[in-house]
Amino acid sequence: MSAARTSRFAGEPSLRIRVSFEFFPPKTADMEHTLWEAISRLAPLQPHFVSVTYGAGGSTRERTHATVKRILAETMLTPAAHLTCVAATRSEVDAVIAAYAEAGVHHIVALRGDPPGGVGERYTPHPTGYRNAADLVAGIRRIAGLEVSVSAYPEKHPDSASVAADVDMLKAKVDAGATRAITQFFFENDLYFRYLDRVRAAGIAIPIVPGILPVQNFKMTRNFAARTGASVPDWLAQRFDGLEDDPATRKLIAAAVAAEQVLDLVDHGVTEFHFYTMNRADLVYAICHLLGVRPKSAHEMGVPLHDEPERA
Ligand SMILES: Cc1cc2nc3c(=O)[nH]c(=O)nc-3n(C[C@H](O)[C@H](O)[C@H](O)COP(=O)(O)OP(=O)(O)OC[C@H]3O[C@@H](n4cnc5c(N)ncnc54)[C@H](O)[C@@H]3O)c2cc1C
Repeated sequence: MSAARTSRFAGEPSLRIRVSFEFFPPKTADMEHTLWEAISRLAPLQPHFVSVTYGAGGSTRERTHATVKRILAETMLTPAAHLTCVAATRSEVDAVIAAYAEAGVHHIVALRGDPPGGVGERYTPHPTGYRNAADLVAGIRRIAGLEVSVSAYPEKHPDSASVAADVDMLKAKVDAGATRAITQFFFENDLYFRYLDRVRAAGIAIPIVPGILPVQNFKMTRNFAARTGASVPDWLAQRFDGLEDDPATRKLIAAAVAAEQVLDLVDHGVTEFHFYTMNRADLVYAICHLLGVRPKSAHEMGVPLHDEPERA
């Protein structure tokens, strides 16, 4: 992390901090319950949008769709559906895009996706599928004119030969119609700032929204990071060291680490954040509170209260 934080940011309303939340589609009834607990707790924070991931190789196509539809039906949130082009024909992917547009989903997070054999395997596009994420962005814009967000990698994607190749790919996605990039998570803010400099120098002007991963479980985070090319600094390991059997303290440390990170980003002018919630609300809710993002009551959000007396 950059130099010690010195500001006294106190959630000034004039900064208009904007947040979005990412969820994954649940596999079981218990997971569904956990997800909806998280959504209910976070919804009053009025995120800009909430996104729902698409399992590797399209494995969650139906569950992603069902979750997005339920968000549309039961909340006032604006959903964004993740979509990948791995192992699917163009017409299969086009059908998913059309179904989202038909259901009233106006925002897609467009991704190439990992190869079916997992990260590290060579990626081969489906012979009749979209070639890559830029090609998919163009397809989405052509078919339905939806808003499209894409990924960005401050530490470069593991498949990428160089940061320059990575920035070229981002440029191709923007030229194809993407209007926002969400970054892979990172723990050293300097990595993000350096990446932002390169992106802006390449003439890319869209928002590059930092993806923030509150560390719910350090071991899982380290495994996940190893697969995605994100680095885990020694100081982070040190902070969680010895807390393997102490979930309560782990949670406090995780909140402190994420707070330090987002407040440093705010000090450097960042006002938009995407949170990888892992379908848990507590840490994200606390960090949003620090950022001055506070709940609105159902009334303020324009939701009729069930026990409100009917007006004559
Ligand atoms: C915000 C975010 C959300 C995500 N959501 C999901 C999700 O819902 N479901 C899911 O399965 N995955 C998801 N991923 C992971 C993503 O699918 C993988 O990282 C995947 O390997 C790359 O897809 P992409 O669209 O990010 O890649 P791209 O932007 O297409 O490529 C990333 C980089 O890899 C390089 N590259 C790409 N293809 C090649 C190639 N053939 N040869 C050499 N270099 C190449 C390019 O230089 C490029 O810079 C997400 C990632 C992020 C950051």
